[in-house]
Amino acid sequence: MKIHEYQARELLAAAGIPVPPSMVIESPLVAEEAFKQATKGMAAPLAVVKAQVHAGGRGKAGFVKLVKTAEEAVAAAKFMLTTKMVSIQTGPEGLAVKKLLIAAGVDIVKEYYLAITTDRGTRRNVLIASKEGGVDIETVAHDHPEAIIKQPLHPTLGLQTFAARKVAYELGFTGKLASQAADIMQKLAKLFVEKDCSLAEINPLVLTGSTQTRDTEPETRSESLLAIDAKFNFDDNGLFRHTDLQAMADSAEDNPLETRAHAAGLSYIALDGNIGCLVNGAGLAMATMDIIKLHGGKPANFLDVGGGATEEAVTEAFSIILSDQQVKGILVNIFGGIMRCDIIAQGVVNAARTFKNADGSTGFKVPLVVRLEGTNVEAGRKILSEARSLVPTLQAATDLGDAARKVCAAVG
Ligand code: GDP
Ligand code: MN
Repeated sequence: MKIHEYQARELLAAAGIPVPPSMVIESPLVAEEAFKQATKGMAAPLAVVKAQVHAGGRGKAGFVKLVKTAEEAVAAAKFMLTTKMVSIQTGPEGLAVKKLLIAAGVDIVKEYYLAITTDRGTRRNVLIASKEGGVDIETVAHDHPEAIIKQPLHPTLGLQTFAARKVAYELGFTGKLASQAADIMQKLAKLFVEKDCSLAEINPLVLTGSTQTRDTEPETRSESLLAIDAKFNFDDNGLFRHTDLQAMADSAEDNPLETRAHAAGLSYIALDGNIGCLVNGAGLAMATMDIIKLHGGKPANFLDVGGGATEEAVTEAFSIILSDQQVKGILVNIFGGIMRCDIIAQGVVNAARTFKNADGSTGFKVPLVVRLEGTNVEAGRKILSEARSLVPTLQAATDLGDAARKVCAAVG
């Protein structure tokens, strides 16, 4: 599960990590007031208007805007709430923006990167840090791998003080700043574990302070560190333990079909091809997508109905697949273990016959290729062959290759 930046800032603040004051707005009408609040007491007012969407790359897309007057804040708010944001993470169709964050602007001396995630290689949680913050970390990792610092966390003790301080020094911090940086890292690491995160990222963590006194009077400068952007991803399997996080879910940001699938206990991920896939088991689902590609087709989705799918779940799965207008054919690929092939076959036939189309008609209109293997497969195949007159678009396949060939041929 993902959350918005403003929610991530709340988590950071609650954990004692410094973040600038901010407000969330949903209309340009309140942008002026939010600007005034955010810049209260500033000699030279500066605020930042930021789109709240479940995608990054906002800065480059023009959806993070520094503003010096209330008029600029209102104009930025109007623009962002009426324009779809297209960034490297959204795809060409872009994302509509419904919420904005208006935060106190920060005078940035330098930007850093900090994150905690799980390193599959070492099977440990790891702190990732870099002096090259603010920019896309994947690019840094690719072009300057030496600029990335990795510090594994202790399996039970987490990020220990000596380890955090070591990273702080490697980032170039000394004195009070090194202590502050290490403290932020340790708090982030603790948050990562407590909230069952898969990613806890601050990018950028910024060094702020008066630039004029920086070189001349290092002892009197009032520098400090602040988190000005954060991203958290959570392990869905841990969500049941965190009602506070569940409440942060914003289904308006998710693909509506994915939300529906989730409610039905199905794992569904929309893709951009035209062959709908209904499969039991995540491994089989991936193999199915691969073999479709091998035969020149493009899967429209990843859909795992799970091991104990009921007839209702299968019907809902078809309904979700067919809600995608791109779908020109369906491949059902089932390995019957505990789940019996005859039950699945009956479920598929029933769904194909009784399915209600948007235009009011019943029955599948697109080609349907079914491959069954496993428990009671003979009984299952018999049901399919007997149903051929009832479901004219149905084809049975003998194996995975045959199924992929047939469905690719059927969609053209
Ligand atoms: P992202 O592009 O979606 O990751 O959004 P960020 O919140 O990280 O903002 C992108 C960039 O905008 C940052 O790396 C900063 O350079 C700049 N930025 C954001 N907030 C401020 C601010 O308060 N002051 C200044 N000077 N720059 C900011
Ligand atoms: Mn960022």
